[in-house]
Amino acid sequence: MSREGAAPASARTPDVDGVRPYLLERVGEAAVVQLYADGFRDLPLRERTLVWHLAQAAIAGRDIFYDQRYARNLAMRDVLEAILTHATDVDAATLKEIQQYTKLFWLNTGPYNNLTARKFVLTCSPRALADAAYAAERAGATFPVNRGESLDRLLLRLQPMFFDPDVDPTVTSKTPPPGQDILTASTNNLYDGVSLADLEGFAEHHPLNSRIVKSEGRLVEDVYRVGGRCSGLIEAIVRHLEDAIPFATAPMADALRALIRFYQTGDDTDRQQYDIAWVQDTASPVDTINGFVEVYLDARGIKGAWESLVWYVNRDKTFQIRTIAEHAQWFEDRLPCDPKYKKRGARGVTATAIDVVIEAGESGPITPVGINLPNDQGIRERYGSKSVSLSNVHEAYDKSMLPEFRTEFSWTPEEAERGKQWSAFAGELTTNLHEVIGHGSGQVDPKLQGNPHLALREHYSTIEEARADLVALFFLPDPKLVELGIIPEDHHDDIVRAEYEGYTRNVLVQLRRVRQGSQIEEDHMRNRQLIVRWVMAHTNAIEQRTRDGKTFFVMIDPRAFHEGAGRLLGEIQRIKGEGDYEAAGALVETYGVHFDPALRDEVVARVDRLGLPSYTGFVMPRLDARRNDAGEIVDVDISYPLDLTTQMLEYSAATRHLRTP
Ligand SMILES: [Zn+2]
Repeated sequence: MSREGAAPASARTPDVDGVRPYLLERVGEAAVVQLYADGFRDLPLRERTLVWHLAQAAIAGRDIFYDQRYARNLAMRDVLEAILTHATDVDAATLKEIQQYTKLFWLNTGPYNNLTARKFVLTCSPRALADAAYAAERAGATFPVNRGESLDRLLLRLQPMFFDPDVDPTVTSKTPPPGQDILTASTNNLYDGVSLADLEGFAEHHPLNSRIVKSEGRLVEDVYRVGGRCSGLIEAIVRHLEDAIPFATAPMADALRALIRFYQTGDDTDRQQYDIAWVQDTASPVDTINGFVEVYLDARGIKGAWESLVWYVNRDKTFQIRTIAEHAQWFEDRLPCDPKYKKRGARGVTATAIDVVIEAGESGPITPVGINLPNDQGIRERYGSKSVSLSNVHEAYDKSMLPEFRTEFSWTPEEAERGKQWSAFAGELTTNLHEVIGHGSGQVDPKLQGNPHLALREHYSTIEEARADLVALFFLPDPKLVELGIIPEDHHDDIVRAEYEGYTRNVLVQLRRVRQGSQIEEDHMRNRQLIVRWVMAHTNAIEQRTRDGKTFFVMIDPRAFHEGAGRLLGEIQRIKGEGDYEAAGALVETYGVHFDPALRDEVVARVDRLGLPSYTGFVMPRLDARRNDAGEIVDVDISYPLDLTTQMLEYSAATRHLRTP
């Protein structure tokens, strides 16, 4: 589908009738939405200054994730941005196509769809791209040519990357085609010339923050650190973190110093020290994540994708998530699984509702709604974890959501109405339960040495996400949530029903995101598919119905749904606890990966007719520091760009001179 979006952002006037713009534009399957951070203005100057320095550190590292995701990413982006910024003489039709492609490229950090992992291509001809590049060059643009290389040669070299969907087709492939393994079938830049067999017996010293390169038959770890890969960007991160330290609380300053040390040495022991310092800072009003964190990009589930988020605490919204965290042991004791997989004397989860001010790398422009870290199981068991719920992201999703999303896939008007009334509330609560008592819960058999992901390998992320979702779905109907003041008693049944219905519908609606093939790659999508398909196969909670040629997944029995979720949770807790790779693979393969392409085609036709997006990317707030004659920051202002292109060009320009191999 290629829908040119609604009115451009500049055509909208904020604050008419107090309504401000959330949905800015549509780009193909994507929606572009403005994120607001209303509480920022009320922070003391010291905290606003701290946020400013941390935001600079976030922007400084953005290109690391570009480098990790695809080796040709930055060269491709430079070509596109050179054209867009020198476009006066570029053919109008070509320019429109390049703009459309570049927006998708920015949203997805390269030419791979963030959900399907598949490549998307430029729709104009190679000739038209070349003409546009020459026009831009005449207008003063410079291109990322190698020494002695002409613009012609550069475009020829990149031509298959821009135009051929069969060259480097999949960024992360956990279900590879015959004859390939999960590494050789994945085109990300975490491995270079390395097969799974090459890694047998190889001792990895920098599991999270390196790429592995096979050179003259030998394996080498190419480490992201000062003096290593992307040194220029990492040195800039370090400078901004150093600038931030004087404005941080004492525990946060300790964590920032530990982070700087890790960036300097790249050693995993220093990463552990940083994780410990970060998780022990439980009360700072401003906080950040900055580093190599989540492992979804790596088919092996070992390498960390770089990301950064900067936020302040949203005090009004923190009650719910904090209350859940304070009672974590109560929920732990009631997990429907063998007692040996339950944590005793659970180290607390520190839980906070936050407003993010900036997200870059893997968490922006496409953002998570909840985060629970650190991922290091050993540190979690000894020191606990921190959970955050991204309140302003929840708000922006809710405000930009089109009502047809619910009505089209609900069996009855009552179901659609329940969704309208309760899905925002239930969604945020379920996310909180998922992060705090889901990911935060359980313990694994000592034989796994705190590393269940090494045993479950490419199935780990799906199993762990399913486990966290099931904990949330299982406890949602519990009267304890009423007792804790989290759910109003009068509406408890409606809230449970709305969440179960919405969760069930989603498995149908999410198929719109996978427009090619008949299998799902993304772990969260796999886990939702797995849960609903399993519940359909083992209980009577859900019926598949048709009306007027349209398919519906109808949740008809919340008790049966709850009972099924508990049963599946018990089994998944055992799989994680034992590191049962065979059983994990069987569950994921049977229920999580494959779908009927005819059903998908039906769903795609329905959402396209209604113009519903497949995913959302966010425009971040913009910060400006005002300085006095001595160069000291005297104020930090926040504003809202309402335009993706402006922001992306600004971020790219900020780091272009810092890039090193
Ligand atoms: Zn999760």
